[in-house]
Amino acid sequence: MANPSILILPGDGIGPEVMAEVKKIIDWFGAKRGLAFDVSEDLVGGAAYDKYGTPLHDDTMAKAQAVDAVLLGAVGGPKYDKLDFSVKPERGLLRLRKEMDLFSNLRPAQCFDALADFSSLKTDVVAGLDIMIVRELTSGVYFGEPRGIFTEGNERVGINTQRYTESEVARVARSAFELARRRSNKVCSMEKANVMESGILWREVVQKVRDEEYPDVELSHMYADAGAMQLVRWPKQFDVIVTDNLFGDLLSDCAAMLTGSLGMLPSASLGAPMANGRPKALYEPVHGSAPDIAGQGKANPIACILSFAMALRYSFDQGAEADRLEKAVEQVLADGLRTADLMGPEGGKPISTSEMGDAVVAALTKSL
Ligand code: NAD
Repeated sequence: MANPSILILPGDGIGPEVMAEVKKIIDWFGAKRGLAFDVSEDLVGGAAYDKYGTPLHDDTMAKAQAVDAVLLGAVGGPKYDKLDFSVKPERGLLRLRKEMDLFSNLRPAQCFDALADFSSLKTDVVAGLDIMIVRELTSGVYFGEPRGIFTEGNERVGINTQRYTESEVARVARSAFELARRRSNKVCSMEKANVMESGILWREVVQKVRDEEYPDVELSHMYADAGAMQLVRWPKQFDVIVTDNLFGDLLSDCAAMLTGSLGMLPSASLGAPMANGRPKALYEPVHGSAPDIAGQGKANPIACILSFAMALRYSFDQGAEADRLEKAVEQVLADGLRTADLMGPEGGKPISTSEMGDAVVAALTKSL
């Protein structure tokens, strides 16, 4: 059987720096765990624009469609700020998400004990936190028609439309229930059924999918505003949260910040299963290209490393190896090793991007 395939798109700014550390980890799994991948690499974002005049070349798009998983670093930077909207670096990422039809965005909020002090919330509220927000990514108010700024009488009106079909809700609900079965079998669905018809439909469809296909999974419903309050009050009451594109945008950022630094946050965007049963998948850190620290060896590679752990779990069915990688990261942090973004007020000497990658590789080797 052919090895599973990965397309690496490092992108811009700190993207290539953090991705270099992920490559060390991919090599480690090949050498020490017999998990060999066919890895190819290409350009995206500003780097692709510089070479091809487009933020995502058609050939790169075709490669992304053909592989088992795409790993992306980050795109963007001040050099490209004045480009026309159609060729901005972000368009490359949006094209990938759209053409791969990645409708389910997984954003874990996991708090490593060693970093519990980093949260703006009390340590006991966040220590050991491990929740997953599933956000619908390809529909809802960011895409609904009509949209635009129109003139009505003697003033302008801005219009966006929240629109969801039953099938769009059902497929993201299934994605959340499948995920819950790998975790603690509990889903909370969030919408605004009290004031929005699209929320009423959302609630009905999620409940129907659960009753007909996932009766073993515990399902609750919450209004998204109450959900936001509960996330900050006592986040450990949740396991998997499923919500629409707009509420998911806000709730996942809110949940992410419970855990401290942007340099720690991975994500996965999944689509429909391919012929081999694996979902279309793109894994990327939540952070951007961090131009303020690019090229200085200061970037924290953990978000990108944990994104690869998600690939092991969700694309390659290697849950035990994903656990091994996450535990290695936890060990490095418990040992007190920190990149600059994780330095507390007590100070200390930060380690570099590549030293952090090496430390994770060393912890992996120790785990054998
Ligand atoms: P950013 O996430 O790049 O940076 C925000 C702050 O967090 C900066 O101070 C940065 O130094 C710090 N930071 C981010 N990642 C870090 C890491 N791994 N280690 C240590 N510190 C880290 O967001 P921004 O500054 O708003 O945007 C910069 C560029 O990135 C823009 O061009 C923006 O459009 C782009 N962007 C891209 C993505 C993406 O590729 N998915 C996401 C967000 C922003």
